[in-house]
Amino acid sequence: MKQFAYLVPRSLDEAISFHEAHGDRAKYVAGGTDVLVKIKEGKILPDYLISLKHILGQDRPLLNQETGELYIGSFVTHRMIEKSAIVRIHYPILHDAIRNIGSVQIRNVATIGGNLVNAVPSADGAIPLITLDATANIQGPKGERSVDLARFFLGPGLCDLERSEILIEIVVPPLLLRTGSAYIKFGRREAMELPMLGVGVLLSLGESSVTCVKARICLGVAAPTPIRALEAEAFLVGKPIDGGTLEKAGKIAAKESRVRDSIRGVAWYRREMVGVLVKRMGLKCMERIKKLAQ
Ligand SMILES: Cc1cc2nc3c(=O)[nH]c(=O)nc-3n(C[C@H](O)[C@H](O)[C@H](O)COP(=O)(O)OP(=O)(O)OC[C@H]3O[C@@H](n4cnc5c(N)ncnc54)[C@H](O)[C@@H]3O)c2cc1C
Repeated sequence: MKQFAYLVPRSLDEAISFHEAHGDRAKYVAGGTDVLVKIKEGKILPDYLISLKHILGQDRPLLNQETGELYIGSFVTHRMIEKSAIVRIHYPILHDAIRNIGSVQIRNVATIGGNLVNAVPSADGAIPLITLDATANIQGPKGERSVDLARFFLGPGLCDLERSEILIEIVVPPLLLRTGSAYIKFGRREAMELPMLGVGVLLSLGESSVTCVKARICLGVAAPTPIRALEAEAFLVGKPIDGGTLEKAGKIAAKESRVRDSIRGVAWYRREMVGVLVKRMGLKCMERIKKLAQ
């Protein structure tokens, strides 16, 4: 394995200036579960690894009681998200996704920030957070900025981070009152396997009816980056939600997907499954809304 120097900055500014000083020869490292595999396989050959451990602070998702926003520092591990009662109860879509990432050993060290920046089409953290309308807060040599997570992914392995920028945290806006959300990682196995598809659905209902006031559908491994099924979302808004409407929305989402043949499944089957899974996750959202009301 290639030798590298391990730099341990004491602050964000120091991390950014280390990176600026070494440019392409340096790589940030958080949990290291992607970076170290790539180094071992010779896919990247950095001379310097700049540790983000200890400088990104917050170790668990935090709900701001006044604004209703959920803050997840990019250094929060998957395990801390999985164990968060706030996430399990109010953001079940995130819990569905995170609890099946790798193994417990991987989830203990791998971070949500690393998962997003790695930007593989199958990243399990991306779909639920886009479905939840999350924003990414970023800091770099030119200062701070925010980007809608739905626009963060630019291609396989490519995200909207400029040189030396660090993903600081993810912010999820407040949920509407009667909201349910669900995610499925679909493949031959649920864990330790790249999925054939990832589907996230969020539905919010009006206060006294089953009419949908907000819908989000996000598809993973259905295009080079995670995509929202915007037409299917628009179809659902204003309609009473039942099996029939969800089935139609699923068919629209299937048409919006850009799946192709891969070793994990042929395109026609994957497209068909987008429809099936959108309906299945929509029904799960409805079950969860009912459960919350009990
Ligand atoms: C056995 C195994 C199983 C896995 N299973 C899954 C799975 O089921 N689902 C899944 O989605 N992933 C899976 N992964 C991939 C990986 O574990 C996750 O993507 C993980 O979340 C990466 O986080 P990390 O902290 O280890 O990232 P690192 O390896 O430390 O970093 C990943 C990339 O992000 C950059 N980076 C990290 N943090 C920041 C930051 N805050 N700002 C800027 N750049 C940053 C690094 O420079 C690097 O390019 C698996 C990996 C292994 C080894």
